[in-house]
Amino acid sequence: MKVGHLTLGCKANSYDTDSILSSFEQKGYEIVRDHSPADIYVINTCSVTNVAERKSRQAIERVLKLNPEAIIVVTGCYAQVKPHEAENLKNVAVVCGTRDRKHIVELTEEYIKQHNKGLCVTENTKNYDFEDIDVISFDDKTRVQLKIQDGCDNFCSYCIIPYARGRACSKPVERVLEQVKYIASKGYKEIVLTGIHIASYGKDLKDCDLAKLITLIHEATEGTNVRIRLGSLDPRVVTEDFVTTVSKLERFCPQFHLSLQSGSNTVLQRMNRKYTAEQYANGVCLLRKYFSSPSITTDVITGFPGETDEEFAETLEFAKKIGFAKIHIFPYSKREGTVAAKMPNQVPHSVAVAREKALDAVQAQTGHDYISSFIGKTVSVLIEEEKVIDNKKYLCGYTPEYVYVRAEGDSTLSNTIVNVKIQNAGDSWAQGNII
Ligand code: SF4
Repeated sequence: MKVGHLTLGCKANSYDTDSILSSFEQKGYEIVRDHSPADIYVINTCSVTNVAERKSRQAIERVLKLNPEAIIVVTGCYAQVKPHEAENLKNVAVVCGTRDRKHIVELTEEYIKQHNKGLCVTENTKNYDFEDIDVISFDDKTRVQLKIQDGCDNFCSYCIIPYARGRACSKPVERVLEQVKYIASKGYKEIVLTGIHIASYGKDLKDCDLAKLITLIHEATEGTNVRIRLGSLDPRVVTEDFVTTVSKLERFCPQFHLSLQSGSNTVLQRMNRKYTAEQYANGVCLLRKYFSSPSITTDVITGFPGETDEEFAETLEFAKKIGFAKIHIFPYSKREGTVAAKMPNQVPHSVAVAREKALDAVQAQTGHDYISSFIGKTVSVLIEEEKVIDNKKYLCGYTPEYVYVRAEGDSTLSNTIVNVKIQNAGDSWAQGNII
């Protein structure tokens, strides 16, 4: 039988899908990753916003167009927070929660044999166990998202994730290193450490934290040119100790996606974010002290309940001061079940969108300035694709700072790391010659 998937949401979900498909593959099922017709579909859902939930339900309709008889398995955050709603959707045979993926193959086989629907959704507000499933094949060709952590204990007032993903927990160190060696042996050139709140890595383990784990991964891949990149980070992870440790590691990628959400301290307090704008800025200074051109990227919510014009002006000023390489901007969307959804002074969506536009103009400029700062410099680029742009064929890929670079060259260089001398830059790309 063929097993396909549709995955929504974050990088941790992509890894979870790889682990579920690997479980089917180890039982002899054929895995289809190109969205061609399959007998069984794993829909790995997201619940971060109401829109994400709607898209999760629509994903089922989309795959049923490919095969109206398909067996549907629903997992992920929407399955965790609304299991019975998911269970009653068309063709759904199995529903598994965010810590119950290990049961998916057996419940699916039970359904195939007996036609008994499967429902396994463990209540996870007190669940501290990292669900560790082997992954033998990955979706991406060049880099691997390696999930090292799950869950979150922060309860930001706008966020449903701690209720969907449970308590923060870590993948055991030796298991991480085992998987890192496996990934390197498969010829991948980059590993992205991902999770729900990777800054919490090691909180539940003895003598290990994120910086120590990165160092151990660097040692375990000694003699290779495997790059180590980090997923989204809580800005509180940026301490002198953390920065001095990782800045010594040659193959560590100096791209820091430090999730800010607002540049106003009063808004940060209402968000229950546990740092101030000043502390955030100090962390950025530290990174710029130890790395030559670190890339600082972030997320910002505009129109958070109660956000005044003055508070938003603070965010705009802060963004100009920091000079982000990229800002992912999200107009606030009320998420039922969160503290913020019940807050007074909800901001009209039109205002949130207008503020998104204003902030986008700032990030477009600071982003362009950041990419242009590489003109004249030689950078290392992991070539991952070939593209025709203005009738010319280019090799394209990313630098350690995650700058997108294009250069003319031979396609045999795909999945290799080359040096490129940067000649010019656009808003979202740099161009140069391979040297
Ligand atoms: S840190 Fe905050 S925003 Fe991020 S997953 Fe945890 S609760 Fe959600």
